[in-house]
Amino acid sequence: MTKVSPSLHSRANTPSNETLLEWDREHQIHPWADMDDWRGYDNLMVDTAKGIYVWDAEGKRYIDGPGGMWCNQIGYGRHEMAEAIANQVIKLSYTSPFTNSTKPSAVLAKKLADMAPGDLNNVFFTTGGSTAVDTALRTMQYLNNRRGMPDKKMIIAREKGYHGSTYLAHSVTGKERDKSHFDFETRLVHFLPDVNPYRRPKGMSVADWCDAKVDDLEAAIAKLGADKIGAFIAEPILSSGGVIVPPEGYHKRTLDICRANDIIYISDEVVTGFGRLGHWFASESVFGIVPDMITSAKGLTSGYLPLGACIISDRIMEQLSGTGEASTFTNGYTYSSHPVCCAAALKNIEIFERENILEHVRKVTPHFQARLKALLRFDIVGDARGMGLIGCIECKAENLEAERTLGARIDAACEKRGLMVRPLINMAVFSPPLIITLEQIDEMFDILEAALQEVSDEMAG
Ligand code: PLP
Repeated sequence: MTKVSPSLHSRANTPSNETLLEWDREHQIHPWADMDDWRGYDNLMVDTAKGIYVWDAEGKRYIDGPGGMWCNQIGYGRHEMAEAIANQVIKLSYTSPFTNSTKPSAVLAKKLADMAPGDLNNVFFTTGGSTAVDTALRTMQYLNNRRGMPDKKMIIAREKGYHGSTYLAHSVTGKERDKSHFDFETRLVHFLPDVNPYRRPKGMSVADWCDAKVDDLEAAIAKLGADKIGAFIAEPILSSGGVIVPPEGYHKRTLDICRANDIIYISDEVVTGFGRLGHWFASESVFGIVPDMITSAKGLTSGYLPLGACIISDRIMEQLSGTGEASTFTNGYTYSSHPVCCAAALKNIEIFERENILEHVRKVTPHFQARLKALLRFDIVGDARGMGLIGCIECKAENLEAERTLGARIDAACEKRGLMVRPLINMAVFSPPLIITLEQIDEMFDILEAALQEVSDEMAG
């Protein structure tokens, strides 16, 4: 059959919204598509965005509760961002990072080194979060091969952790593994059980839960052997797993154990970095740890263009390079250090600094978190947790079947009222653009309350 491409250039041929959705269903495969019904899904056709709001193709306005995909920090529709991107495209759209350097990537590397804690002064740019995680894990493998420790390469990760969608990043992801028909690298990974304080046994204190979770790491090291373990990878807050905030003291105690056992600590700050918790990076500023590597993406460009970074300590770099044996670090991408993406990141940082966005987040956080906690007054809300401008409600129902529908039902009730949230089974998650005002926080939680009331009434009726 001949394929006839419709002309998209004449106004008369501008496809209708329905046609666009049809083409989309027929020809585009979306991430996390439901393969039983991959042509039947009903995605929202998003058309325009400004500040914290997006509009669909019919002109209906929504608050962007998830901030894109935890990535929009400075808000949408920034003209100066468009100009910075356009200027860099015209000046130099691309050059090979394998042989050349550019001003935007050099300045950005210096800035990230200044922002990152301790001696994390070395930046490897990637195309997003998964490739930043891949780079961190491959760096550990390369290092231990170079050090003559080829057996010290197991990775300790955690249930409910999410680290991305490349083979290695997927392998260390502890979410929905049971349902995955993709392969993952089981030889290399050991998972620690859920750290969520909400899941602790009845009657157990949070401090005892913390001890138990630290013991899980110690037990894994004792079982596997420190000489077999290369890295521990951990999100400071397990975001996609349901905004799980580990108990106080957990981060520092697990870091100390890693140091004592020569295990590289990788802090995956793809979500928690770039202002989400009111700081450039949360590892040291919020949780008091200086890891060996930090991975970053998403908020690095506020989602305007794709970019990731793996930031590595001087200590690791010295070990990597100090063996006296020649070796090439064969890790990298055509679009590593992309000058246009780096220019977007620099503009993003400039806007953060000029508008004091980190201070703004710290100022509005107590109100955001207070409104979040107030949702516990609904019987269907089992837990309301979060930190900074990230929150989650975990809902409960009389039976598991009904419980599993709650995220989607809350999402639908919110969407009707002009708020997008991210449903995750029985949870709804939100991480709005960081520029959200106190009034807009109220607007968002007022809608959530109305939606929760509607779903509670339905459940009762
Ligand atoms: N790490 C964390 C903590 C994430 O939340 C994500 C994505 O949600 C990733 C890594 C993967 O990032 P990307 O989707 O940009 O590859």
